[in-house]
Amino acid sequence: MSRLPRFPLGLQQLQGKTVSRREDAAVVRPQRPVQQAALDLARQVLPSGLGLDSAAVRRRMVDRLRAAGLHNETVLQALRSVERHRFVDSALANQAYEDTSLPIGLSQTISKPSVVGHMLALLFEGAHAREHGNLGRVLEIGTGCGYQAALLLQLGRQVVSIERLQALHERARDNLAQLRHGDLRLVFGDGMLGHPPRAPYHSIVAAAGGEQLPKAWLDQLAVGGRLVAPMHAGNAGGQRLVIVDRGPDGLSTLHQDAVHFVPLKSGTE
Ligand code: SAH
Repeated sequence: MSRLPRFPLGLQQLQGKTVSRREDAAVVRPQRPVQQAALDLARQVLPSGLGLDSAAVRRRMVDRLRAAGLHNETVLQALRSVERHRFVDSALANQAYEDTSLPIGLSQTISKPSVVGHMLALLFEGAHAREHGNLGRVLEIGTGCGYQAALLLQLGRQVVSIERLQALHERARDNLAQLRHGDLRLVFGDGMLGHPPRAPYHSIVAAAGGEQLPKAWLDQLAVGGRLVAPMHAGNAGGQRLVIVDRGPDGLSTLHQDAVHFVPLKSGTE
């Protein structure tokens, strides 16, 4: 596994030293940070020598997500199969299966697996998804590193994913190049405009939150379709997840849990 971070020899030596002196608390005291480093190191090492590309590592992550209340088996299966560590910097790979958001460069983050799973499960409760058992034609705003796009590709029939930062768009293209199956279109552009050529969409999901939902997203939502996006919660501050369904008679909106996503910005960079 060339992408896995290697621990410097020095730390391993220090770890041995700390353990051998553990009984002598008073003497060891000035070395506390070293001891802490050894503990951190021990926490980072994967159990029983499993590689990050082992299915068992992801199965454990999925077991934890299920125990924490995520019950959509289709979403859990997708989370089990996509190798999240391949989408983050190799220095962070050993945290890829913890339930934590991680930096992906340019001040952006990949969301926690539990948040991604929750949003995907919410999409599955839309009318089209319930009827057809898949997310249909999907629009994702904020490709980032491409992790969620890889999940969406397993859950929908077609995926369009838009990113406004060219460097991230290109990185996602590289990260997703290995996934040859599925109908995926990665677009470099301002996702606030949606993507009219493939509209309407049965599922729209945003990974960045603005003051309001752009009109283009609502216009491009199919009848039976569902949109899930973070949005500023007004004077109260913070963000909330907003769910919009388009029924035969128009739109209905539901405000859900407090969340924390990066800001939705217009234009491209
Ligand atoms: N789903 C992503 C998470 C990316 S973070 C993943 O799995 O990695 C959110 C992303 O939204 C950032 O990359 C940010 O650049 C992008 N973003 C913000 N505003 C946008 C806009 N108007 N159009 C497209 N992307 C946008």
